[in-house]
Amino acid sequence: MKTLQQKLKAKGINVGVDGQFGPKTKAAVIAFQRANGLTADGVVGPKTWAKLNAAAPKPPAAAPSTPTLKQGAKGQSVKNLQTRLRAHGHNVSVDGQFGPATRNAVLAFQRAKGLGADGVVGPQTWAKLNAAPSANNNPTPSGSKKVAGYVNGKARTITVSPIGNGKFLRSDAAVKFNAMKAAAARAGVTLHVNSGFRTMAEQRYLYNLYKAGKGNLAARPGYSNHQGGLSADINAPGGYSGKVYNWLKANAHKYGFKNDVGGEPWHWTFKG
Ligand SMILES: [Zn+2]
Repeated sequence: MKTLQQKLKAKGINVGVDGQFGPKTKAAVIAFQRANGLTADGVVGPKTWAKLNAAAPKPPAAAPSTPTLKQGAKGQSVKNLQTRLRAHGHNVSVDGQFGPATRNAVLAFQRAKGLGADGVVGPQTWAKLNAAPSANNNPTPSGSKKVAGYVNGKARTITVSPIGNGKFLRSDAAVKFNAMKAAAARAGVTLHVNSGFRTMAEQRYLYNLYKAGKGNLAARPGYSNHQGGLSADINAPGGYSGKVYNWLKANAHKYGFKNDVGGEPWHWTFKG
């Protein structure tokens, strides 16, 4: 009886679920029968059951399927897992079978991401799997080069990659920057970089201009995030009220960039 009442409710008929076929339930059955072109006699026979069981309302759109998976699991969610492992550079076949090879790939992935390496794919592992693969798993972008960078006053050899307009950022930051630039372009916003990675000579030049009162604030040579290949000065017409700044304010964090110098709406630094 409860099943009948539940099904009536699921069809939008207002009835209490008390397990008693009383007058209210009978009235509900009659209403349902009328609405479905059945003989409205209040008797639940095969035809009424058939309509009650037909095409239940669809559940809300399913979230991406990320059930906990371990060795022995099978099916589409394992295929999704294998596809994501491949996206992160782990060479497994996408066969929907969670065997030892898949488990080894999961262990390697978990180790690489600093997760507990147990070979079980739970919410934390799924979150990392569904995140964009890091630059380390991508081939070094073309046009990359090794340069003399500086981080906190210390010399470092870093690899930088092009971000357009002849400018460069450290390769991992450049990959993210270029993704951000493409997204901005899709939104009708042009990210034009005026300054990216700077050599020591370039930073000294800008610092001297600043000291002479002729240029924008520039960090002490060796200490600018531009010298680590992490900061990009993006042409931002209109400053804080401009379209470029406002698009970046809403979106740059998705790519790991932050506007981290007050008074400089153009200066965006990769924080990873
Ligand atoms: Zn800057």
